Amino acid sequence: MKALLFDCDGVLVDTERDGHRVAFNQAFAASHLEVEWDVPLYGELLAIAGGKERMRHYFDQRGWPAGVADQDTLIQQLHRLKTDRFMRIVESGQLPLRSGVQRLVDEAIAAGVRLAVCSTSNERAVTAIVETLLGPERRRRFAIFAGDIVARKKPAPDIYLLARDRLDLPAEECLVVEDSRNGLLSAKAAGMACLITRSRYTWHENFSEADRVVDELGDDPASGVTLSQLERDWAKVKKRL
Ligand SMILES: [Mg+2]
Repeated sequence: MKALLFDCDGVLVDTERDGHRVAFNQAFAASHLEVEWDVPLYGELLAIAGGKERMRHYFDQRGWPAGVADQDTLIQQLHRLKTDRFMRIVESGQLPLRSGVQRLVDEAIAAGVRLAVCSTSNERAVTAIVETLLGPERRRRFAIFAGDIVARKKPAPDIYLLARDRLDLPAEECLVVEDSRNGLLSAKAAGMACLITRSRYTWHENFSEADRVVDELGDDPASGVTLSQLERDWAKVKKRL
């Protein structure tokens, strides 16, 4: 195993629960709206893709705020505010890293395993997450493949194929860490082994193609996922590839 490739959202941090959801709530509060999306409600709203569409759906269901003359304008204003608040949350380092990420990254660095983050989310946000939460020393060890650098988002394999080519490694020497079904399908279509760390909003998804499924990497190496375990998983998968 020559490289560990991490998805960003849901793997390094629980971006939806701790980032986007909080940013929506800050945008509502800053606009003097009495709206608060709690963790279970936000889980339901995630069925609606796109931030603007999600807010529109919510107001259509629960009623629009009194005195709103133009729904489109309100949604656009809220969305601009939300995007700004989200970047502030990310860049201020307020998002908590998921348990075990830093430990596993340090094990990989010590063992000379290469590291990358592969995400089709906003590149500025992904880079800020790696830099502020893992620190500049670790950030230097990471290749970051993010944003609109590939034509098709996950579940298409494009982002992992790009990483394979840029790292100049065969797919079977890479192991991917993902938290969602789309991410799993993307890694598998690229011909890579895949560990799933289920996150708050993906625990119920079907991960039957995964090589291993856990609820977290875990800070304690005695109970968590270690690099040597991943190397054993990967060796088994490699025989099948
Ligand atoms: Mg994810």
